[in-house]
Amino acid sequence: MAKCAICGDPIGFFDKNKVCPKCVEAYKTMTTAENQDIALTISEQFQEALPNIKDEQVKELLAEGIKKVHEKFKPEKPLMRTTTGGFEGYAIYEYKDIVVVKEVFDSGKVQMLDRMQDARPSFSKLDRQAKKLGANAIVGMRIEYSLVVSDHSGMWCKVMETISGTAVVVEPIHERIKYGEQYD
Ligand SMILES: [Zn+2]
Repeated sequence: MAKCAICGDPIGFFDKNKVCPKCVEAYKTMTTAENQDIALTISEQFQEALPNIKDEQVKELLAEGIKKVHEKFKPEKPLMRTTTGGFEGYAIYEYKDIVVVKEVFDSGKVQMLDRMQDARPSFSKLDRQAKKLGANAIVGMRIEYSLVVSDHSGMWCKVMETISGTAVVVEPIHERIKYGEQYD
């Protein structure tokens, strides 16, 4: 059984395509979507898959598609983020809401340790949620992993990554002092 060059899902033995219908559909959606959220979310997923793709032709095509999406929708400037409750020199003016991104990935498809050491691909999704709420920063960020399922040997497993934080509006304190407001 042949496997999809992108996601690794099995594809029909006689299928001359290297990529499964699901990935083909996702690629089409990514390159044609007028909705920035949809296009960028798919491009992030493909970006994660990219290092593990062995077929050079598929890899090249996919990288090209991702580049086009990034040109169309300029990558957004990341929000200010911290694991602590605030930023030095900034005051929190509004607590908007809690934002959460959950992602399940499996040890067969991504290098799990690399992923755990760098969860950044999910940060931009958290940013977009926060921006929708009108926030300009995220405080109290937490990254957690929990085992969803594993095989007997423990060699294969599915892990859920949960990234959460509180979307807030912050402003540098000195800006407000300029406008004559005071702080205790
Ligand atoms: Zn696929």
